[in-house]
Amino acid sequence: MDGFKREKQQWLLKSCFALCLFGVMVVLALGSNRNGQLESVLESGVLKIITRNSPTTYYQDRDQISGFEYELAQAFARHLGVELEVEIADSLDDLITRVETGKVQLAAAGLTITPERLNRVTFGDSYLKVTQQLIYRSGKPAPADLQDLLNSRLVVTEHSSHSQYLRELQQKLLPQLSWIERNDAEVVELVQMVANGEIDYTIVDSNEFQAIDTFFPRVRVAFDLSEQQQLAWAFQKYGDPSLQQEAKRFFQTMREKGQLAQLQERYYGHLNQIDNTGTLTFLKQVDNRLGKYKPTFKKAAEEHDLDWRLVAAIGYQESHWRPRAKSRTGVRGLMMLTRTTAKEVGVKNRLNATQSINGGARYFKKLQKRFDHIAEPDRTWLALAAYNVGLGHVRDAQNITTEQGGNANRWMDVKERLPLLTKKKYYSKTRYGYARGYEPVTYVQNIRRFYDLLVWSDQPEPSYALGNEGEEGVIFTASAGFTTIPPLTSIN
Ligand code: GLU
Repeated sequence: MDGFKREKQQWLLKSCFALCLFGVMVVLALGSNRNGQLESVLESGVLKIITRNSPTTYYQDRDQISGFEYELAQAFARHLGVELEVEIADSLDDLITRVETGKVQLAAAGLTITPERLNRVTFGDSYLKVTQQLIYRSGKPAPADLQDLLNSRLVVTEHSSHSQYLRELQQKLLPQLSWIERNDAEVVELVQMVANGEIDYTIVDSNEFQAIDTFFPRVRVAFDLSEQQQLAWAFQKYGDPSLQQEAKRFFQTMREKGQLAQLQERYYGHLNQIDNTGTLTFLKQVDNRLGKYKPTFKKAAEEHDLDWRLVAAIGYQESHWRPRAKSRTGVRGLMMLTRTTAKEVGVKNRLNATQSINGGARYFKKLQKRFDHIAEPDRTWLALAAYNVGLGHVRDAQNITTEQGGNANRWMDVKERLPLLTKKKYYSKTRYGYARGYEPVTYVQNIRRFYDLLVWSDQPEPSYALGNEGEEGVIFTASAGFTTIPPLTSIN
């Protein structure tokens, strides 16, 4: 081979090699582009999200972290098979910026899709519709329209959908409209300020107000300020879309399996069932009557491995903690036991508070065991319904639920069918016949609410004082630590 030929051959070889290398790089680049963010989440094994402290997003219960958004994000992490890491934002602006700059993979924070935000981030599927509601303190005249807001102290969170909407109203409708924006106050604090009379009004999303209004009996909704708006997770706008696409699939599955509806029912299903007077009366009785029976509730609950606050909530719903209570049908005592039930659980004197509480706890535990195959919290809700209406009727409602294609192990599904037991078409085909099936539905909802209130009032550090005017004079301690979780908390 002469020198020229060899040179040509070497040149050809080099070109081939360079071409192959280029090809491999293109394939790699395309590949990484296709998998992008999703791939890196899967590889790192961590989904990094940002949220904010509020009753509807993320908060610390006594012994666990809760919140609708937190649980939703956790379900997404499980769907991906990775760990969830949570950052808590300092402010709504900080939250959007961290998504925008790719510091976190998404924001799950009860965020409203707003035109302003769409310039900076992109949103996934909407999972809740809300309206913005104007909140005022009862006892003062309720504002009827926007005009009534002029010359008032209206305070909202800075960079919130509420402040953005106010700006829109100011530009389009009412140039004189003015308000104050706070970057250091979260929604609960603003509602607290209205309750205390420190400010006149604030604006809160309907789902947020639903989650807290029982705790603030002095405040009311004046009117819906906005049309319906959508809440959704926020993603990086110009980032690779693979994670967002996977989130879409996740939401689809959650919807198809009814899991999204179930989560919504768990967080919002029992709310707004007791009016504010009911709450005030309850809190009054916490002060007046509960103290006397608390040690007995605690002892009975411990003996039967139950949460004492649940047993106490049942007791309140049954008799308002009155040991001599009596119903028209002859049900008696603090825990309102029937003669048969009292016998079954070894209660000799139903009017004896200690015996009644012990018997009630024992009976409830027995009912709970009948639903042993069902996961919590549905097991407890079904057992409560049985305490109220009888096990047989709950079983009937469960059967109707199955016949109609629902899930008999889900309270959410069964509570829809319980009221059917008043209709001949349905009860004529059941084993135990007619029942006032709507009653256990309200019964369970009330107990869940009383239980929540007890959990709140049972917290060590005082937080929110209700009713600074004296007549109710209840000092109310919040469980949620909505404002006490330090920023940038990581959970692994
Ligand atoms: N949905 C509201 C938003 O997106 C929540 C903020 C707040 O309640 O302060 O801004």
